[in-house]
Amino acid sequence: MSKDLFEKYQSIIDEYNAFPADVPNPFNVTMEEVISETEAVINGKRTILAGTNNYMGMTFNEDAIAAAHKALDDFGTGTTGSRVLNGTYSGHRALEAMLADFYGNDHAMVFSTGYQANLGMITALAGRGDYVIIDADSHASIYDACNMGQADIVRFRHNSPEDLEKRLKRLPADAGKLVVVESIYSMLGDIAPLKELVEISKRYDCTVLVDEAHSMGFFGEGGRGVVQDMGLEDDVDFIVGTFSKSVGTVGGFCVSNHPNFDILRVASRPYMFTASLPPAVVASACASIKVLKDSGSNRRGALWDNANQLHTGLKDAGFKLATTSAESPIIAVIIDDEDMAARFWSALLMNGVYVNMARPPATPLGINLMRCSVCAMHTSEQINQMVATFIAVAKELDLPLGDIAA
Ligand code: PMP
Repeated sequence: MSKDLFEKYQSIIDEYNAFPADVPNPFNVTMEEVISETEAVINGKRTILAGTNNYMGMTFNEDAIAAAHKALDDFGTGTTGSRVLNGTYSGHRALEAMLADFYGNDHAMVFSTGYQANLGMITALAGRGDYVIIDADSHASIYDACNMGQADIVRFRHNSPEDLEKRLKRLPADAGKLVVVESIYSMLGDIAPLKELVEISKRYDCTVLVDEAHSMGFFGEGGRGVVQDMGLEDDVDFIVGTFSKSVGTVGGFCVSNHPNFDILRVASRPYMFTASLPPAVVASACASIKVLKDSGSNRRGALWDNANQLHTGLKDAGFKLATTSAESPIIAVIIDDEDMAARFWSALLMNGVYVNMARPPATPLGINLMRCSVCAMHTSEQINQMVATFIAVAKELDLPLGDIAA
């Protein structure tokens, strides 16, 4: 008999099945009803959403919904084709023009997801004989791009300019080199020392790509991200982003000033060999980016207030946090024990607060996280409720507080 192809997953199967039947399973959550940007019904219970990527609260924006309805009526439900065949509609072009304008770049390319934007850009830019140099805590889409591509991969220690330089020094001076970093890391919510990383990269003649998935909309002037906030627009060659977070829908993109950028449309396989985004998604993304650009400042202010309130509340209560201050809207609570983490997550949910349970391999250093993230639309009362629920659950489960504070 041939080998069972699922054999390699046995340890994950055991872990998955180990979840007691009477408590919610973190990998099997269903939103039965979505009440608003910040609340849903889960397991029949009204629940505060404290673990989404809906940072700017754009999922129910009136303009975005109206634009999606109109596009649905005018263009139908889907394109049924690749961007390079029948899948480019006027909406896709308008969205690319909107993105180029938003970032002040000459070119923009829209992919079907943020994941594919990283796959598509990294594999197309770095080929055989080239090097891709990545932060060790990179998102799965960056790692998968490295596995899929032909280039040699070099990893440097998370957010360490010294280690980046040490690695770059060893590479052949004449080889093509692409440095890929994120501006905000999605699990711990920490910000990259982009100024130093970009300065070193440029000194070693590298091309630089920054993934701004978790910073679009609320960093920098007009929400253009950390690259703009740190004044690095002239040194960063490619910015990758997604519509699945602050923009409130789905899709990915890359913007650049490179004069030959558009050739990637016929060189990037994850761009070419997949169907393009549906017109309704494209229209809502366009409307949403316009809102972020023209009137996002109130939302930005509310988002940062909420991030600070949650960080302060949890820190004062004695929880161990991944960052010493609110560097981003992602506030990650570290729970050292894996079993405690699972029980903690379930108890939070049963008490009406949903957070992301994050564990290896999604997390760095093998840690377990209650990954919280705030939304611009959370009220101050909701943030208080999150903190109160964390404290109540810690008491219920005898998780010692205070002596473990960051
Ligand atoms: N890059 C980063 C840093 C991410 O965190 C994510 C998604 N979590 C992606 C890319 C992929 O984006 P999408 O979900 O739009 O495919």
